[in-house]
Amino acid sequence: MAIRKRPDHAPEEMLEANRRQLEQLANACGEEAGLHRPLAEVVGGAITGIPEDTDLAQALSDRQTTDRLVQLLDENREQVERALERVREGAYGICEACGHRIPAARLKFQPSATRCVECQSHWDRLNGRTA
Ligand SMILES: [Zn+2]
Repeated sequence: MAIRKRPDHAPEEMLEANRRQLEQLANACGEEAGLHRPLAEVVGGAITGIPEDTDLAQALSDRQTTDRLVQLLDENREQVERALERVREGAYGICEACGHRIPAARLKFQPSATRCVECQSHWDRLNGRTA
């Protein structure tokens, strides 16, 4: 796995790259083409909520799973766009729910995070999403 240089100093650039990647993946899901690599390899950590060993081609054979994948891609892209908004507002790295600083380790692992772990898990429960 490649180690990105200075991830904490260029969140916008990284988030834009993530967004483009997610858009491409959403398109690819619709086309069902060229998806014979393991999903984790294809997305390179740009998406969360899919087990790392998920094989996208196999997943696409199941219509329901495909719908879920597209939904996850949309959710992730929304989250990335939200994080980009926070960057523009100068509030990147600040939890939008409680206003505390999001730990650097969390941002490194999940650059599109706009809430701290506690607020995110609370939000996930409220919205019926499982982390
Ligand atoms: Zn919080």
